[in-house]
Amino acid sequence: MTDSSEIAEWLARVRAAVATAARDAGRDPAEITLIGVSKRQPLAAIEAAFEAGLRDIGENHADELLEKAAAFAPDGLRYHFIGRLSSRRARKVARQAMLIHTLDSLRLARKLSLIAQEERREVRALVQVNQGGEATKGGVAPAAAAALVHDTAALPGLRVIGLMSIPPFDDRPRDWFRQLRELRDAAAAETGVALPELSMGMSHDFAEAIAEGATLVRVGTAIFGARD
Ligand SMILES: *Cc1c(COP(=O)(O)O)cnc(C)c1O
Repeated sequence: MTDSSEIAEWLARVRAAVATAARDAGRDPAEITLIGVSKRQPLAAIEAAFEAGLRDIGENHADELLEKAAAFAPDGLRYHFIGRLSSRRARKVARQAMLIHTLDSLRLARKLSLIAQEERREVRALVQVNQGGEATKGGVAPAAAAALVHDTAALPGLRVIGLMSIPPFDDRPRDWFRQLRELRDAAAAETGVALPELSMGMSHDFAEAIAEGATLVRVGTAIFGARD
């Protein structure tokens, strides 16, 4: 694994780049939450990042999230779920994750609403959009995003607060991010649901995402190094 002093150094570099990108876009760096994506990294990597000041961690496999959250959950550390969520794992993930980035069906929304009511807690989520229509990625079609936001607004206990995307990997990330922001603006106007959060941007393109309005960036390798 990448050793802890390297993680601290890389984290500092990414934070500085986040702040620069925010200022270049005329935004307050405090508007942007840096999520360190620690999938397939050992627990020690999360501990090192927390020690260096990182407070938001993203995991894309339910079992891995649950294992890590059970082993390391100091005050102030927030786990985010950023992978495909099965109904079987929904309850446990909803308990551990402060935000589920990958809501992509009304069926899952209904399930999360039931869980929220049973557990007497609010479950917060983002609607994932599959901008490139890629079969390997989750998410609803862009044209279906507003309808899902509208339908979930009626479900007690579940609160949708924005959109998330993993756009196709190509040489024009900024166009994809702009499209997601515009889709968010349209969906908010159409449904009357405030959608302040935009989860977009990864190690190679978080600066472009920030330029287009990202509030949550999900950065793995640039902080933790290569995965196994
Ligand atoms: C792995 C992953 C990331 C981080 O990717 P990097 O390229 O390592 O920064 C971000 N978002 C999701 C949904 C991921 O699965």
